[in-house]
Amino acid sequence: MKKPVVDKDKCQGHMVCVALAPDVFEIDDNGKSEVKDPEGAEESKIQQAIDGCPVDAISWESE
Ligand code: SF4
Repeated sequence: MKKPVVDKDKCQGHMVCVALAPDVFEIDDNGKSEVKDPEGAEESKIQQAIDGCPVDAISWESE
């Protein structure tokens, strides 16, 4: 299974990912996105979040 990972060094907290997939991504105390549930949305929805991130901070990681 592949799962999304957020590069916190790149993330600028635009929250596009949270808006698109609120059950997968959340904003941490530092204003950065993190994955709370990699299976919280369909793959296509997560892909939308990956494509929608303005700084390309999200990518797939294979387990
Ligand atoms: S869309 Fe990208 S920059 Fe914005 S919070 Fe999500 S990972 Fe961070």
